[in-house]
Amino acid sequence: MSEKSTLVVSKIKHGTVIDHIPAGKAMNILSVLGIRGEKGDRIAIIMNVESEKLGKKDIIKIEGKWLEPRDFDVISLIAPSATVNIVENFEVVKKYKVSLPDRVEGLLKCPNMTCITNERNESIKTKFKVLSRDPLKLQCEYCGTIIYKDDIVKLTNYLKK
Ligand SMILES: [Zn+2]
Repeated sequence: MSEKSTLVVSKIKHGTVIDHIPAGKAMNILSVLGIRGEKGDRIAIIMNVESEKLGKKDIIKIEGKWLEPRDFDVISLIAPSATVNIVENFEVVKKYKVSLPDRVEGLLKCPNMTCITNERNESIKTKFKVLSRDPLKLQCEYCGTIIYKDDIVKLTNYLKK
């Protein structure tokens, strides 16, 4: 086994491996998941490694962390190609492929400041309809504002649960 592949396959004991992330997007994924390492999470970030499917890819390994359904939706917005592996006792026990839902609710902030979802006194969950998956294009169901792939990271209001 070459040194390169050793880097990729080195195992975690219990936790989550997010694989097949487009190259360079690992940090964005951690950011939108609200994982910063401050709470002592053990995280391995492997960037720009060879991938048969993607050419190059990123991988994130998080010891002792399991994802919630909304985490999968968030990941699908940034890395539609991602797979999520659940590891127990050094073995992959479950494998999921993320998939972008037709409607993205409560995960993205509308960039239109006059949108009703941005009214301070209203607690309306944002709703975006997926108009196109590749390239990613979503539309606010309240004001019609369209957002694109490159806007996604800065519009994730995921942390404001
Ligand atoms: Zn809006």
